[in-house]
Amino acid sequence: MVSAPALDGQPLACLRGAGGKTQERLARLGIYSVHDLLFHLPLRYEDRTSLTPIGALRHGVQAQIEGMVELTDLAAKGRRALVCRISDGSGGINLRFFHFSAEQRTRLKVGTRLRCFGEAREGYYGLEMVHPEYQVLDSPEAAPLSASLTPVYPLTEGLHQKTLRGLIGQALNLLHLAPGTLPEMLPEAVRQRHRFPVLAEALRMLHLPEPGASPQTLRIAQQRLAFEELLAHHLSLSRFRTQVRCHSAPRLTLSKAATHHFEQALPFGLTGAQRRVIAEIAADLQGPQPMMRLVQGDVGSGKTVVAARAALTALSANFQVAVMAPTELLAEQHVRSFRQWLEPLGAQVVFLAGRLKGAARRETLRVIAEGEAGVVLGTHALFQDEVRFQRLGLVIIDEQHRFGVHQRLALREKGRHDGLTPHQLIMTATPIPRTLAMLGYADLDISVIDELPPGRTPVKTAVIPATRRPEVIARIVDWVAQGRQAYWVCTLIEESETLQCEAAEKTAALLREALPEVRVGLIHGRMKSAEKDVVMAAFKAAEVDLLVATTVIEVGVDVPNAGLMVIENPERLGLAQLHQLRGRVGRGPGESHCLLMYQPPLTDTAKQRLGILRETADGFLIAERDLQLRGPGELLGVRQTGQVQFKVADLARDEALLDAVKAAADALLRNHPERVGPLLRRWLGDAGRYAEV
Ligand code: ADP
Ligand code: MG
Repeated sequence: MVSAPALDGQPLACLRGAGGKTQERLARLGIYSVHDLLFHLPLRYEDRTSLTPIGALRHGVQAQIEGMVELTDLAAKGRRALVCRISDGSGGINLRFFHFSAEQRTRLKVGTRLRCFGEAREGYYGLEMVHPEYQVLDSPEAAPLSASLTPVYPLTEGLHQKTLRGLIGQALNLLHLAPGTLPEMLPEAVRQRHRFPVLAEALRMLHLPEPGASPQTLRIAQQRLAFEELLAHHLSLSRFRTQVRCHSAPRLTLSKAATHHFEQALPFGLTGAQRRVIAEIAADLQGPQPMMRLVQGDVGSGKTVVAARAALTALSANFQVAVMAPTELLAEQHVRSFRQWLEPLGAQVVFLAGRLKGAARRETLRVIAEGEAGVVLGTHALFQDEVRFQRLGLVIIDEQHRFGVHQRLALREKGRHDGLTPHQLIMTATPIPRTLAMLGYADLDISVIDELPPGRTPVKTAVIPATRRPEVIARIVDWVAQGRQAYWVCTLIEESETLQCEAAEKTAALLREALPEVRVGLIHGRMKSAEKDVVMAAFKAAEVDLLVATTVIEVGVDVPNAGLMVIENPERLGLAQLHQLRGRVGRGPGESHCLLMYQPPLTDTAKQRLGILRETADGFLIAERDLQLRGPGELLGVRQTGQVQFKVADLARDEALLDAVKAAADALLRNHPERVGPLLRRWLGDAGRYAEV
C-alpha cells in the first residue's frame, strides 16, 4: 500500500508545541505519532455557541453563562474557598474556587463582567459552579461566541484541552497536505450504502465541526469511524479463530464411572444449567482442536464445579490443569474447592502462592515440572517463565475481564508441547450483551449458566440517601445482634486506589467508634495479600461481624452468613460492577439485603440506573439496560463495555451496524485481502500486528 511519509511514521516532534514533556504526556494516552493524534477523538462536545440565562440553569447541566459580579468574598462556612456571585437579570449563581490566587480575587471585583462555562450543581445556597472556566469580558465585542461546537478530548495529567486541540489542528493540516497517507479502506459500496464520508473527511468533521454542524452530521462521521473500527476488530478476532482451528489438542473424555464418582461425592446435585454446560464442554474436549469456550454465569451460579468437572476430564487422561484466578484470595478459595472435590479422586492440587519462597517454592515448581501436580492454581504468576508444566492439557481462567485478550493468547502458547495446544476454558460473571457476544468474542464459543442453585432468596435492594446513614447504622446493629454478618463497601469518585483505601480506613474507624459492640474488620487493595487473607479468614470464621471493604471484595468471596451489604456512593460505579458486588450476599439461607446509599442529589439518569438494580437481579438485563442508559451530552461517549475497549464504537449505539460489518468483512477478505493487514494496524496497533502472525 502507500509507503510515502505515512503519518504513523511521522514523529510528534515535527509539530509545534510538542516538546519532550508534552510527548511524555501524550504517550500516556497511547499517542506516539501524528497518526495516533488524528485517531484521538473527542469524548463529547461543549456547546459554547450560545449563552444560557442564569435563571434557566438546571442541576447537573453544563452551560455557558454571562453575568456581572455582585460580590466576591471568602466562603463564610466550610472549606476555605473564594465565592463570587454573578447575576444577569434572570437570576444569580455562586462561583466557587477552592484554589485561587490573591490576584484572581482582585480581578473578580464587583461590576466586572464574566463569561463562564461549567456544570451547575445544587449547593447549600442554591445552584453553584465549582471551578468554572471563565474569562473577564472587558467589552462584549472583544469576545464573540464560538461559532461551532468545541471538542472535548480525553486528557491526562498536565495536558490541557487547548494544547491537544492545537496539536490535532496541526495534524489535520498535515493530513490535508498529504491525503494519500491515510488511504481509504472501506469498500466503495459500503460507503455509498451508508452515505459515509471518506476517512480523512470524517476525522476532520469530528475534530473541527463546521459552524452549525448538526448532530446528525457528526453522528454519521462517527458511525463511519465506528464501522471501520468494528470491522477491524471483527477481522482480527475471526483470524485468531481460524488460526486456532488449525492447531491440534489432546482428545479428552471422562469415563462414565469417573463421572458418577465425581457427582456422587458432591454435597449437592447439579442444576440443569450446570449439566448442560458440562455437556458442551465435554463435547469440545473430545474434539481434535483446542476448546476455546467462555462460560458466563451470574455470581453464585456455580461455575467452579463446572470447571472442576472439566479439570477432572483432563486429569483422567494424565494431563495437567492450570487454573488462573485474578487475585490470591480467590485462587485460595478455588484451592479449597478443588481439593475438596478432586483429591478424594486421587488428584494432587497445588497452589503456587505469591508468598511461597525459597525451598518450598522450588519444591512446588518441581512437582509442576515433573507432572506430579495434577491441578496447579495461582494468579497470572502461573505464567512466568520459571513455571514449567510437564503435560498441560487444559487452562482454566476465572473472571476473564481482568485479563486481556492478548494475555489469554499468550497462555495458549505457553502450554504448547508435542504439537498439542491445551484447551482453554474461561469463566466470567460479567454478562455479555448479545452484541458483544456477536462481535467481541468472535474467537470464543459461549456457554451460559442461566440458573442459580436452588434455595437462594433474592437480595432485597433499597436505594437510600446518605442522609439516612444513622438508620443504616442502627440496622447493622440489629442485624449483627441476630448473629448475621455484613459488608460495608466504600467507593470513591477518582479512579484512585489510594483515596479509596483511605476512605475505607476512615469509615472503619468511625464505625468502630460508633458501634463498640460490633467487631469491625477492614480489607482494602493496598494491604498485603497475607494481611487480606487473615482478615478474610476471620470474616469467614465469623470472628468479624462487619467487613468494611473497598471494591476488592468484588470477585468471588463466598461467606453465606453475610447477608447485608451497604454500598456507599453506588452512583459512581457501573451497574455491572454493582451487580457483582451485590452477588456477595444472598448466598445462604435466610433473607438478604443490599442498601445503595447514594450522595444526594442524584440526576434523573442516575436515579433510573440505580432503580434498575432494585427491579431486577438478572445480570443480562442489567448489562443491556446499562448500555442503553447514558447521560445527556455523551454524543461520542467512549466507554468501556465489559471486555472490549473501543476507541469510537459503542455496541449499544452502533448495534445496527453489526450485520453490515460482518458482510463488509467477508467482502474485504474476498476482494481486497491486501487491505486487511493495514486496517488491523490502523485500529489495533500492536495487537493488530499480533493478529497477523
Ligand atoms: P460462581 O459462579 O460465582 O463462581 P461458585 O462456583 O463459587 O459460584 O458457587 C457458589 C456457591 O454455590 C458455592 O458455595 C458452591 O459450592 C455452591 N453450589 C454450586 N453449585 C451448586 C448446586 N448445584 N447446588 C447447590 N449449591 C451449589
Ligand atoms: Mg467464581
